[in-house]
Formats: sequence, structure tokens, C-alpha cells
Amino acid sequence: MGIKIKLPFGLDKNNTLVHISDVENGKNCGCVCPSCQSPLIAAKGNIKQHHFRHDDGRDACEGGLESTVHLAAKQIISERQKITLPEYVVFSSSKDSRGKRYSKCFIPSKTIDFDSVEEEKDLHGIRADILAKIGNRPLVIEIFYRHKVDAQKLDKIEKADISAIEIDLSGLAPKDVEDWEHFWSYLNNPQHIQWLNNARVNDNISKQIEKELTREIQEQEKKYKQEDIEIEKAALLEAIKEIQFFKKKEHIDLLKKEALSHPAWEYFSKYVPYKWDEFPELINKEVPNGDWIFGCDRRIWQSIIYGYFILHKNNKFSIGLING
Ligand SMILES: [Zn+2]
Repeated sequence: MGIKIKLPFGLDKNNTLVHISDVENGKNCGCVCPSCQSPLIAAKGNIKQHHFRHDDGRDACEGGLESTVHLAAKQIISERQKITLPEYVVFSSSKDSRGKRYSKCFIPSKTIDFDSVEEEKDLHGIRADILAKIGNRPLVIEIFYRHKVDAQKLDKIEKADISAIEIDLSGLAPKDVEDWEHFWSYLNNPQHIQWLNNARVNDNISKQIEKELTREIQEQEKKYKQEDIEIEKAALLEAIKEIQFFKKKEHIDLLKKEALSHPAWEYFSKYVPYKWDEFPELINKEVPNGDWIFGCDRRIWQSIIYGYFILHKNNKFSIGLING
């Protein structure tokens, strides 16, 4: 905690809290302490932060500051009829077919306007510092300066399932109580507000978040499918390019040049009754647009068909097997 604040508000004759900046210096301010009701003096010097002090000199009024901060918070919320709710964390997660994880986790912060505000309102066995209503929906607002909401109260709030927030003013520094506007800025800052219970989350929002997750994953799956199609397309194009190369004269010439040392010839030559370059009439026939089809010179594959299948009556072969 930083520098302690000194009593920045006092009760005026109309029983309304006024800020030190709104009253004249000294005894004539006409204010009393909201806690002990004793007269206050407005101390507006040049050195110390401006503040109220008890006229009788007893600054032993323990509860004075605390009840004043509470009163000030209630008064300004009642006046402004709104609050900025912090984001609410809801966690839901799921995985897609490739194991990528998705999670959705919050309802964003937003400012809501109240239709009504009541202070010190009893409901469900608790006394709420403030009970605001948005339409028919209640929102309990608790002010925390020295005492947080205790476990018992929290339990009752959860059991009744009413929405409730706690505004944490425990870190108030002198600059935050310079005037009402600074005080409001501090109080209405969602970083100083926490959810105690969010009644709406329990029903609709969890389901809605599930739905959004599912939709997001479905969209990703569509993208995956599209990617797969693209990959297949690319592979097909690659294969077509390869075949186009196979069909080229330079490739066919290469096969011809390397024919004698091709492993297929080495392996299958034992099945034919002739040597290389002593091919019978029916071997070495030109096959337009097909010489290259088995990945070896046509004299080899034609010899294989002739020797292996026709003479020896085998029924299958593979150049790939030989090459591998
Ligand atoms: Zn007092």
C-alpha cells in the first residue's frame, strides 16, 4: 500500500457526503464525521493533502475513514447508476483432428447502466452494500476497503445464485481521492472489481462458448481438407511433369545408352535365348509414346515379356523390384 489517505469526505448539513475540495477551509465547513458525528474541520493547507480532521482533536475515530469510504462509494454509484464490469473468465477447451488445442475463456468487460439502485438492501439472508437492478436482474455490489466479503456471505450469494461483484478500494492512494472524479475513476476501473458470482454464466454463456469452439474447429477442419486437396494437386502436377520428362527424347536416349548396364537386363537376360545386340526380329519394336513406359530401354522390357512371360510362362514382374 502507498501513502495512507486522510479523511477526504464529510457529511454536510443535508446529510450528504461532500468532498474536501467543495467546502471552505476551517471550522465553517459545517461537516460532521459520518462515523462518530463529531464536527469536522477542513484542513486545506499548502503542505499536507487536504482533508477533514475531528474538531475535538481525537483522531482516534477508528471507523471514520472506513465508513466514509463506504458511504462515498455507495453515494457515487447511486448517483451515476452504472458500473464497468470486469471480464469474466469461463474456460472451455477442445482439440481438432490434428491435436491443435482451442480455448475460449472470457466474457469481455463492459459498462452497464442500472435501472435502480438501493443501498444496504437485505436479500437471501445477506445485507448487500448496494443492490442494483438491470431490468429484473439483480446485481449485488460489495465495497471492500478494510474487510473483504467473508466466506459465509459468499456462500449465501452462490447458493442464491445472484450476480455479485466486489469493488476493492483497499489500495486507494491520496491522488485517488483528490476529488470525486478521481474517486470514481478508481472505483469504476474493472481492474479494481472482481466477480463474486456470475449468475448468467451458469446457463447460457457456457453453452454459447461451447458452440463457438465447435464452429471454430469445424472451420479449421475445412481448411485442413482444403490443404490436403492442394497437396494432392501439387503431387499430381509433379507426377505429370515427371511423365512429361519420361516421354522426352533425351530421356529415351538416356535409357538406351544405359540399357546394357540396367539391372533389369542383368536379371532377366537369363530368360532369353539370345545375347545383347542379337535381338530377334520381334524385339526392339518402336512403341510410339510408350517406349519409356517401364523405365528401361524397350529392348529390355520387350525381352522380358517375350522370355519371361511367353517362353517361361511366368505371370508377373516388376522393374521397381529389380531397381529396389
Ligand atoms: Zn469520527
